[in-house]
Amino acid sequence: MILHADMDAFYASVEQRDDPSLRGRPVAVGFGGKRGVVAAASYEARKFGVRSAMPSSTAKRLCSEIVFKRCRMPVYAEISAHVREIFYRYTPLIEPLSLDEAYLDVTGSLRLFGSAAAIAERIRREIYDELNLPCSVGGGAGKLVAKIASKKAKPDGLLIVQSEGTLAFLRPLRVSEIWGVGRVTEEKLLSMGIVTIGALADRRSDEIERELGSWGPLLQGLARGEDLRRVEGDRSRKSYGEENTFNDDVSEREVIEGMVIAHAETVARRLRANATCGRTVTLKYRPSTRNDSFRLVTRSRTLPVPTDDGPTVSKTAMALWDAEVDPPPIRLVGVQISGLDRDKPLQLSLFGESDDSGESGRGGEDRDRRRALNAALDDIVERFGSSAIKRGRSE
Ligand SMILES: [Mg+2]
Repeated sequence: MILHADMDAFYASVEQRDDPSLRGRPVAVGFGGKRGVVAAASYEARKFGVRSAMPSSTAKRLCSEIVFKRCRMPVYAEISAHVREIFYRYTPLIEPLSLDEAYLDVTGSLRLFGSAAAIAERIRREIYDELNLPCSVGGGAGKLVAKIASKKAKPDGLLIVQSEGTLAFLRPLRVSEIWGVGRVTEEKLLSMGIVTIGALADRRSDEIERELGSWGPLLQGLARGEDLRRVEGDRSRKSYGEENTFNDDVSEREVIEGMVIAHAETVARRLRANATCGRTVTLKYRPSTRNDSFRLVTRSRTLPVPTDDGPTVSKTAMALWDAEVDPPPIRLVGVQISGLDRDKPLQLSLFGESDDSGESGRGGEDRDRRRALNAALDDIVERFGSSAIKRGRSE
């Protein structure tokens, strides 16, 4: 059983939450100016046809009373980390797709919490109670069904498709609902007389493969409810990473540092939640599109001892940034930690008594304070009781 949790109009909902005068009004988050683009639109704005990725000028034309708010990425990243901690109360198998959506494999937690619907409802209620934000959750026997279900559940809803109902749910939907089916593929399918997922499922396999190539069988498998894609949970990972794309080129060090800190804190929390430390810190960035080398740049440094501490990770990443000669304006920045060491028992990260946490050379007081802070952040894991989950999973 896979859940797909997706915050509703995430950035816009955060702005409406933090400024009550915006509630019930059309709001767009993005950047103003000539090249401005809408990053997120509130549901009130969507009624006017405003959509994300739309030029701000178009949004203003569609909806004259729309309120524009600037993107506050560090705020959204912080909320995203909190949302992810809520997910971890229910399963360690979480695959984030972006700041505001993730797949959760809850198969091993069903017995402990009763049902997928019970887990989804608890997640929704905890996000609402702790963050005052709406989240929709869909669930089903595969990623495709879960993702479509969360879309149908919006706004502020819940829809679980039981596995025996998978085909009945999928068949009437348009093929464009399938992940990865863009306009070109949809037009090709339409030219073959295939409109619905059911029609795609029923068509002869060799015909589909002839028209769509090697992608055909995979696509048809999805249409037939054969969705074997796994949730790539943290435990099977070789690294933990977070990144974001800016809506505009960024060259100010403070902006970059703000995001690096937010990413490092999220990565460190996930390490601690999974009783893991990492040794190699990687900073990655993509130079601006106006730069001739639009490629991903990575810079790494290996620490003397593994760490699960956010400030250690962000300081290392910023040292790598500061070592760049003549750094370009960038469009993307990310922080990754690899060289994982999973042998550390969970309690050591919770209660902060390990001697191997990579803090040699720092004052004891500073170390204790950071440990206390980390422990407070990890309180969530303690209250949750990861042992309960492990028992549920092994039964
Ligand atoms: Mg969303």
